[in-house]
Amino acid sequence: MNKKLLAKFKKALTQKKASITNKLNSKKVDEIEIETGGDEIDTATQSAEREMQFELGSIDKRIMQDIDNALAKIEKGVFGSCESCEKEIPQARLDALPWVRYCKECQEEAEKNLK
Ligand SMILES: [Zn+2]
Repeated sequence: MNKKLLAKFKKALTQKKASITNKLNSKKVDEIEIETGGDEIDTATQSAEREMQFELGSIDKRIMQDIDNALAKIEKGVFGSCESCEKEIPQARLDALPWVRYCKECQEEAEKNLK
C-alpha cells in the first residue's frame, strides 16, 4: 500500500478514535445527569436508555481496540492485510471500515464459528 493511502487511513482512524473518545466522555456526563435527575416517572425509560448506552459503549470500546490495532499495523507496515490469511484486504472494505482486521472471507468464517 502506498504512503499516500496509508496517511489517509491513518487520518481516518485517528479521527474516528477522537470522535469515539468524545462520545464516551460526553456519555459519562449524561450518566451523571440521569443519576442526579430524580424524575421518578421516567425511571423505567432511563434504565432502558442506560442499558442501550452501555451496549453502545461496549461496541465503541471494541472499535477503539480495533483502531489501536490498526494504527499499530500502520506503524509495523502490515496495514491492509488480513490477520488470518494474510491476503490483502480490498480497499473498498478498508474505506468503509479502516480498522477491520480480516478480509470478508475470514470474517464470515469467524462469524460462522461463533454460531
Ligand atoms: Zn483473510
